[in-house]
Amino acid sequence: MKIIDSIKKDKQFISLEFFPPKSREDWPAFFKTVKRLAELKPLFASVTYGAGGSTNVDTLEIVSRIQQEYGLETMAHLTCLGSRTEEVVRFLADLAAAGVNNVLALRGDIPQDGSVATPLPSPLQYASDLVTLIRGSFQDMGISVAGYPEKHPEAASLESDLTYLKLKLDNGADFAITQLFFHNSQYHAFVKRARAAGITKPIIPGILPVVSLKVIKRIISLCGASIPEDFLYELEQADQAGGAAAVQRVGVAHARRQVQELLDAGVPGVHIYTLNRSEVVLELLEGVEIKSPLS
Ligand code: FAD
Repeated sequence: MKIIDSIKKDKQFISLEFFPPKSREDWPAFFKTVKRLAELKPLFASVTYGAGGSTNVDTLEIVSRIQQEYGLETMAHLTCLGSRTEEVVRFLADLAAAGVNNVLALRGDIPQDGSVATPLPSPLQYASDLVTLIRGSFQDMGISVAGYPEKHPEAASLESDLTYLKLKLDNGADFAITQLFFHNSQYHAFVKRARAAGITKPIIPGILPVVSLKVIKRIISLCGASIPEDFLYELEQADQAGGAAAVQRVGVAHARRQVQELLDAGVPGVHIYTLNRSEVVLELLEGVEIKSPLS
């Protein structure tokens, strides 16, 4: 089933993003986390690709198991940078054979160590090229793409970045999921600009609960999103007063407020970056009211 067919007007949802654990020894704990969070009945679960050293074999096996053993509609992330077309097609065919019919089509980050030659050795230069490939060869595959409320770090301007988001959607992607942001006004402004640019497809906000100052500073330095000064100050104050546990309390409470405000504002759904931490996600969603939740 394509996820877009379940995203209906006036029916809001939560979706969850996981990353493959570094070592296979950690898989039992990982699947325990998935099982626990499956009880939240997310519309779908997504699994990252390549990030943090995971391999496409890990992603393939994990998405297949989440789909088949845990009954969750699953979306595999897929990056194309530095990949040959045949490899990508094989991966997509393996996904389809495993009953996984949804993909988040990404370019991926350019490695800083020069391990990917430029110009890139593949016709798959951008996520929009990957979308075209998937739409052309795998008609039954649901496709989502990434959107950046504060623009992608390499983009020349907000406008040019939006042009390329539109290209990805026009090439056949069904909807977009955003990069993390900490002020909902950034999301609303992004959606407004997107609509003005002629983008009509759903744009799902991605929300990350802050669980550690060190971790969030590293994530921010990599993904190009910003952390507002007032929120950073609040987190630093919490750290001084109560250490890591206090930072997590403040971070989770902030994410909960963001999620509730977004749902109240009528977003189609919220995608939560789970960090593979079930207790954090359960705490985040405690008391959150979802309007006419799907399923
Ligand atoms: P693109 O859409 O291709 O854009 C890349 C850059 O090129 C942008 O600056 C854009 O403005 C520009 N651009 C696009 N098209 C053109 C064109 N035709 N001509 C000129 N410039 C162009 N990374 C992982 O490695 N694994 C993951 O699992 C993963 N999951 C993610 C999930 C989400 C929701 C998000 C938001 C990001 C994720 N990322 C992941 C990070 C992502 O791979 C990086 O942000 C990457 O640098 C860009 O990928 P993209 O698909 O947005 O690229």
